[in-house]
Amino acid sequence: MSTSFIYHALGLVGYQFLKPLFEKGKIYFLVRKHSGKLRCPECNSHRIKLKGTVTRNFKSIPMGKKQIILSVIIQRVQCNECHCLKQIKLGFADPQKTYSRAFARYVLELLKFATIKDVARHLNISWDTVKEIQKEYLLKHFSNPQLTNLKQIAIDEISIGKKHRYLTIVLDVTTGAVIFIGEGKDADSLKPFWKKIRSAKAEIEAVAIDMSPAYIQAVRENLPNALIVFDHFHIIKLFNDKLSELRRQLYYEITDYLQSQTLKGIRWLLLKNPENLDEQRNEKELLEKALTVNKPLATAYYLKEDLRQLWNQASKAEAQKFLDYWIAKARASGVRMLIKFANTMAAHRTGILAYYDYPISTGPLEGTNNKIKTMQRQSYGFRDKEFFKLKIFAIHQSRYALIG
Ligand SMILES: [Zn+2]
Repeated sequence: MSTSFIYHALGLVGYQFLKPLFEKGKIYFLVRKHSGKLRCPECNSHRIKLKGTVTRNFKSIPMGKKQIILSVIIQRVQCNECHCLKQIKLGFADPQKTYSRAFARYVLELLKFATIKDVARHLNISWDTVKEIQKEYLLKHFSNPQLTNLKQIAIDEISIGKKHRYLTIVLDVTTGAVIFIGEGKDADSLKPFWKKIRSAKAEIEAVAIDMSPAYIQAVRENLPNALIVFDHFHIIKLFNDKLSELRRQLYYEITDYLQSQTLKGIRWLLLKNPENLDEQRNEKELLEKALTVNKPLATAYYLKEDLRQLWNQASKAEAQKFLDYWIAKARASGVRMLIKFANTMAAHRTGILAYYDYPISTGPLEGTNNKIKTMQRQSYGFRDKEFFKLKIFAIHQSRYALIG
């Protein structure tokens, strides 16, 4: 086998091929470094004395279904310059590893469309080896997200696992990359992030968050120059929650049996967007019937439909007018829940309308969130927290969250 073949096929530079050995379905390639290429591993001097050899095996890229093992005769040398006594540098594998770098690259290629489990089974190596290769790659490329050019971010928490553990996730809205993962869901979980932002001297222009006071305060304190944009998905969800509460409350107040039954049946219909109501199941009719007999609920329902339009206005000025009109209508409704909600909207007016300066939201975090949940359901879950976090940092580059 020629030197250039073992270079191109196996990733070995400066090695000579001695012979193949066949054993238990595996092919061993016995190789050693060309004597002319031997150098001191410390000072690179060629003035060396040979001091014995050891033979070590390294996994290499398979040929078809055949495992290929490099049996490498490793020369120990004594240096006449620096006087060290050491094994020569291998070049094709990292120290302490039992596989070549070409093999690791091959594993990473397979991991783009197969799970750790699949790759381990396919290559007949352990799950841990595949994971180790992936973890080293992730550590090298994703452990230190670039923050210097960060301009627009979204912050949100996600709950993971059955025990309702929380992670606070910060996303670069422009690239879609997760740039920070904090433990927990309070303002404290963001403290390390602000520190990183300061040392990177990032000048963040806009931040999408929900209306929770803890986030507002944390952003104001740490990014005084950034514009806060209240996430519209959260606002609509908050309104939907209040709408459900109102329905429940009315249901318990009503003494008329038939009326209370109409209210009971529309629980989910209230939260649906009208365009999604199922005509075949008479959903529209059922909803309208319940709303006719229940004025407060009807008012709240139509205000919900209006509210969605707040983010579809032609300009910021139009949106301003729209919001003020919406607040006025809600306040005039006489329904306590709506008046309260109108006050919340009024108090957060600037941040709600800031959407028209920076049309950002925590929406992209939803997709990331789903991928994290898929990942988290897999066996590796939280056994290795660092690995889990690295996988999250790399998530925007993976088309699927692959099952481990
Ligand atoms: Zn030396």
